[in-house]
Amino acid sequence: MIENILQLIYPNVCGICGSISKQDICNKCYVKIRKLQRNKKKIYLTKHFTTHMYLFDYQDIIRQKILQYKFNEKTYLCRGFAKIILNNEKICGFLKTYDIMTSVPISKKRKRSKRIQPK
Ligand SMILES: [Zn+2]
Repeated sequence: MIENILQLIYPNVCGICGSISKQDICNKCYVKIRKLQRNKKKIYLTKHFTTHMYLFDYQDIIRQKILQYKFNEKTYLCRGFAKIILNNEKICGFLKTYDIMTSVPISKKRKRSKRIQPK
């Protein structure tokens, strides 16, 4: 019951367009985002880095949402990103070949310089 009351006061919104939605990404935005998927994989022959796989080109709405997630404390966007990743068989198959996946840390200087205001 408390959850229902909270939903009335603070309804779930789509992480992309901000419209009220029970899902983390509304159906309209999910269709748009799926069209932007690239599923690219690059092989590198360096000592520390061998493979780079990414779902989207880092531009436009994708870049904007990633920056908001990373630097504007919109951590709720992770649920929508996770849904997109977990619904992609190619990416999941790729991830299963590794024991550990980790983030790439950012320097404090770069973090300060990337603190942005959403457009
Ligand atoms: Zn939406």
